[in-house]
Amino acid sequence: MLRASFQTAVSLVYPPKCLGCDELVEQDFGLCGSCWRDAHFISGTVCEGCGQPLPGDTDGFRLDCDECMSTPRPWSQGRAALLYKDKARKLVMALKHGDRADLAAPAAGWMQRASGPLLRDNPLLCPVPLHWSRLIKRRYNQSALIAENLSRLAQLDHCRICCDESRPRQAWRAKPGRSALRSCSAQLSPIRVTGL
Ligand SMILES: [Zn+2]
Ligand SMILES: [Zn+2]
Repeated sequence: MLRASFQTAVSLVYPPKCLGCDELVEQDFGLCGSCWRDAHFISGTVCEGCGQPLPGDTDGFRLDCDECMSTPRPWSQGRAALLYKDKARKLVMALKHGDRADLAAPAAGWMQRASGPLLRDNPLLCPVPLHWSRLIKRRYNQSALIAENLSRLAQLDHCRICCDESRPRQAWRAKPGRSALRSCSAQLSPIRVTGL
């Protein structure tokens, strides 16, 4: 009762605002109608490799888009929560470069919905490490923030070596991105890695 009253008081002082603009919304971490329409959330039939939407229904067999068939990916399955354009692109850019770490929690929820079957069989969530020079500039690794939030939401373990920004990173100081991830997974083998 006391908690509910406190929450109401906080909501009156700080009413929830849309993550993509300053429009008032009903709940925290939500999008207003206009931003929602512009965010292009992906659902339905998708490419198994990159997660982009495909026309038609799935027939139970693996479906890959033309791009994934012509350039095979170094991972077996991929999913995306949003199409990288319009409002979705602005949200991603704000999380990566605009000091909007608050977007990591809702982004984790969107990733959980989009990832669906990929989160079965208890995978280890492993964020893509950030090169130290970029980490200094951005002050946080957005991928690590999403992994931490997704790990809480989906009750899965996440790779603490990749997420811990304070640890020395000899393994990937000179090897940003995918090669660093590979060296991390080698240290933790055997594991399953879910890239974010
Ligand atoms: Zn909005
Ligand atoms: Zn694809």
